[in-house]
Amino acid sequence: MSRIAYVNGRYLPFRNAKVHVEDRGYQFADAVYEVCEVRAGRLIDERRHLDRLERSLAALRIRMPMTRAALGVVLRETVARNRIVYGLVYLQIGRGVARRDPAFPQPAVAPSVVVTARPLNPKRLEALAASGIAVVSVPDNRWGRVDIKTVGLLPNVLARQAAIDQGAREAWFIDKSGAVTEGASVNAWIVTQDGKLVTRQADHAILGGITRAVLFDAIKGQGLTIEERPFALQEAYAAREAFVSSATQIVIPVVRIDGHVIGDGKPGPVATALRRAFHHYAEAG
Ligand code: PLP
Repeated sequence: MSRIAYVNGRYLPFRNAKVHVEDRGYQFADAVYEVCEVRAGRLIDERRHLDRLERSLAALRIRMPMTRAALGVVLRETVARNRIVYGLVYLQIGRGVARRDPAFPQPAVAPSVVVTARPLNPKRLEALAASGIAVVSVPDNRWGRVDIKTVGLLPNVLARQAAIDQGAREAWFIDKSGAVTEGASVNAWIVTQDGKLVTRQADHAILGGITRAVLFDAIKGQGLTIEERPFALQEAYAAREAFVSSATQIVIPVVRIDGHVIGDGKPGPVATALRRAFHHYAEAG
């Protein structure tokens, strides 16, 4: 079966799914995106993802290309046309197509909309969760508004590749004070020796992950304590557990940071329990 993409109002086979050479998403990264998990054919946490999408668009003064309800139909239709049972749906909205000039097009042009969907291999993710992953630290050299989910991801691309080049799977960004901000495509968490969960507060220095937000409910539901604060890389090295969160990976334990073994070097009980509990707290639409 060939893959189908939604591109500016049409469902097209992948080979015909193309954007214009002067699309501003392509030329200036003048676009935002969302990624939702698909589970049993249903979108997970669509409401929260669309809330964040609207916040990202508003921050960049790009208008919603259609109502939320219509966008929901396009997301679901793309999932259905690609017969995704377990996987992800990707949505990108940009400022549109115009002659190349950094200033906003005047008059405004129609926003560009692209939606794709693809299957994920659940066994592969379960294997990762069972083994845990290694991460490496890299300087956080991103712009000051990474809370906006833009497609301008070059520092993230280079950080992930630096991790892979060093035999790790993820990179954690470190700010100028030596604190961990987040991962290249995940939020970062530790469990302290006295059992508290720590993740950085959701300010302009991290993307406020939807998985992170749902985990807050799961953590409270398990009677655990959360501290939203910066944590130093040194504190992470000495943590009892560490893990990462994102919509497609949910919770993946971290067993090594920069070669330092975390805890006993195996996925910890808190991360494992949160991974299991997650979908009880998420919304399936
Ligand atoms: N931080 C960054 C930089 C990300 O790119 C992502 C996901 O793509 C996340 C955090 C996790 O966000 P979410 O849980 O909404 O997938």
